[in-house]
Amino acid sequence: MSKHNITLIPGDGVGPEITEAVQRVIAGAGVEVNWDVQHAGTDVFEAEGVPLPGRVIESIKKNKVALKGPVTTPVGTGFRSVNVTLRQELDLYACLRPCKSYAGARCVYPNVDLVVVRENTEDLYAGIEFQKDKEETLELIEFIKSKTKKVIRPDSGISIKPISVFGTERIVRFAFDYARKNGRKKVTSVHKANIMKHSDGLFLEVANNVAKSYPDIEYEDRIIDNMCMQLVQKPELYDVLVLPNLYGDIVSDLAAGLIGGLGLAPGANIGAEMAVFEATHGSAPKYKGLNKINPMAMMLSAIMMLNHIGEREAATRLDGAIASIIKEGKHVTYDMKPTPDDPTAVGTSQVADEIIRRVKG
Ligand code: NAD
Repeated sequence: MSKHNITLIPGDGVGPEITEAVQRVIAGAGVEVNWDVQHAGTDVFEAEGVPLPGRVIESIKKNKVALKGPVTTPVGTGFRSVNVTLRQELDLYACLRPCKSYAGARCVYPNVDLVVVRENTEDLYAGIEFQKDKEETLELIEFIKSKTKKVIRPDSGISIKPISVFGTERIVRFAFDYARKNGRKKVTSVHKANIMKHSDGLFLEVANNVAKSYPDIEYEDRIIDNMCMQLVQKPELYDVLVLPNLYGDIVSDLAAGLIGGLGLAPGANIGAEMAVFEATHGSAPKYKGLNKINPMAMMLSAIMMLNHIGEREAATRLDGAIASIIKEGKHVTYDMKPTPDDPTAVGTSQVADEIIRRVKG
């Protein structure tokens, strides 16, 4: 196959060390890539005044495929999340997060095989926020009082939660199409429609309607709190889950916990024309530069990317190498050992070395 042009965003925190490990294993598997390296995040913000320069977006638009390391988002104040902005700017409306337990991984259940499909552009992540004490916030509070007779305390901050028919229809279709293409049996829509009747209620209504055009796939819905409890108790009852943005974010981490932690949870943000592959986990700043963090989540995201660009054989070989390493439990990072201070844990780059040895061997 010819060389692939792929945008690489190393990210910050542990991002650069895990993306470097991933580049090495992809090369080790014999896939040739022209990496268009584009930086974004905290350091870029300090140097250029913006955390996500236009050239990053342009590069992804040109190459159509990107591999992205995690990027830190300041809490409460500072710039908006680069991750959220990227998904919105490129309309990467579907966040796909398969959570499959590998034999040998330390997890509660041996046979978890869930796929979380998270809506990526709407909901409380829309970025429509009103800061406490701002004039427009007080005006909004007055407006709401005049229209609904509901009183919001004047010292409130407000975040808006938009959920549309358009946004819901396309994410639910994505979930069903994914289920069909991948031999999955059931889609479960997740919501809190009993409380948020006009946002989650709409999500549920649209999901129920879309489900009617997929009679070959079983369909059901669950209320989010019950869903969390059920996933912890009997994850084997579930297959593909489709959720609005915020619940999707939270349930992704819950599902990651079921299969052995964030070190094993891959992901992709997919739009009509482009796809950005990234692990579920964040930049884990306390581990930055320590060669400690598990690169497998990022590698499994890269395997999803290789399948996406047609490099299926290399993807299968890499997955096999990772599965055999997990099963053996020897060349794995601290998070996959019985205790975090296990002296036999290896570092990020040693995991990559071992994978390369096996894919080549
Ligand atoms: P995090 O996922 O970075 O880390 C939480 C903890 O999980 C870590 O301290 C570590 O103990 C463990 N962990 C995470 N990844 C691991 C791995 N690969 N191997 C082993 N252990 C791992 O979550 P956080 O601390 O809440 O967030 C840190 C920063 O990352 C924040 O600024 C957040 O906004 C950002 N973030 C970015 C993305 C993204 O870029 N897509 C996603 C989530 C969080």
